[in-house]
Amino acid sequence: MDNPLHSEFTEGIKEALQNNNQALAAAKIQEYLDQQNNTPLNIAITGETGSGKSTFVNAFRGIDNSDEKCARTDENTLEVISYPHPNYPNVTLWDLPGVGTTKFPADKYLELVGFEKFDFFIIISDTRFRENDVKLAQEIQKMGKKFYFVRSKIDNDLRAEERSQREFDEKKMIAQIRENCIQGLQQQGVESPKVFLVSSFKLQLHDFPLLHKTLERELPAHKRNALLLAMHDINLEIINKKKEAFQAEIKYLATLSAAVAAVPVTGLSVAVDVALLVGVVTKYVVGFGLYSSSLKSLAGSTGVPLKDLTAAIHLPLAVTKITPFLILKLLSQCVSTAASTAAEEESRYIPIIGIPAAMGLSFITTYRALSTFLNMLAEDADRVFTKALGLNTSV
Ligand code: GDP
Repeated sequence: MDNPLHSEFTEGIKEALQNNNQALAAAKIQEYLDQQNNTPLNIAITGETGSGKSTFVNAFRGIDNSDEKCARTDENTLEVISYPHPNYPNVTLWDLPGVGTTKFPADKYLELVGFEKFDFFIIISDTRFRENDVKLAQEIQKMGKKFYFVRSKIDNDLRAEERSQREFDEKKMIAQIRENCIQGLQQQGVESPKVFLVSSFKLQLHDFPLLHKTLERELPAHKRNALLLAMHDINLEIINKKKEAFQAEIKYLATLSAAVAAVPVTGLSVAVDVALLVGVVTKYVVGFGLYSSSLKSLAGSTGVPLKDLTAAIHLPLAVTKITPFLILKLLSQCVSTAASTAAEEESRYIPIIGIPAAMGLSFITTYRALSTFLNMLAEDADRVFTKALGLNTSV
């Protein structure tokens, strides 16, 4: 799907090139990469103290509850506290006090927390949803915003039930809890409530993947990538979607690279291309969580030794500092002709910025390099995820 930002940006490049201002053209490439990471997404998390808000906020951001940067988990949360995503500061989770812990009615509460800035609300409860939750949901709806009910700590319920029953049927139990929540909400006047059963300790299980899908579907198109990238790899589908989102950008990046190559200044093209490659490949590594602290945290939460996860990574770009030198070295080793047909196919985008087709060589080189790095890193991410979850299938 085309983003107006892309065309606005390519226009800027075109103009800079027509004015023979290659420095401005290069700056605009950087600006473009920065803009990709800057669509704001603000997620409000509200619920009573102890319902599991902070743990959810941390899990969503891929932060251990024991990490220094984590949200507090042991005090009353009476103020609105922002928790930016560690890799995507444009994505912020906001920990809001439960409406029942304040003296304000739901409508005043929303005004006080500054509801306008939030893209959607998540209302958390570790038991049934209460009157206050419902009143708040109704006010949120009145304000034209979306809300989702999250029933937290589902692992606790399952464990307790498993202990108490001889014949334990997880699916049945989950269905029952969901039904109870829905019925409770309906009785209090919420029409067709959406309730997601979640364990913040294992986001890949239960309804969290469904919550992500629902949010993705209901968010405006230009916000979807912000949500997708901020989401850590909870399943192979997310890895694949990230790969598709990155892939969709490559033709623009290659076009821009070709535009810069059109400027007849010796050496400039190579320098800018490598800088661009370093920036984009770093974004892939971060997006797929293939850097050391993310892998350490994955090892910690799954109990799979870090060395086993690292062994699943084939491309030395992950877990190593990405430098222009490393990129150039890998370019000569890994970038085959495999992506060339696709690159030639995509070179029809070159006229977008009105440069001669002869510049296609630079386009194809950049396209091929980025596609190859992306494919290899996505395969690494698949292997790491498969290993971490102890899945037998490799995708
Ligand atoms: P908050 O006051 O709403 O921010 O709640 P916390 O996030 O501090 O959670 C309260 C307690 O519930 C803590 O001891 C958490 O470890 C625990 N907790 C939170 N989420 C979960 C969960 O999904 N599963 C389990 N088993 N415990 C959880």
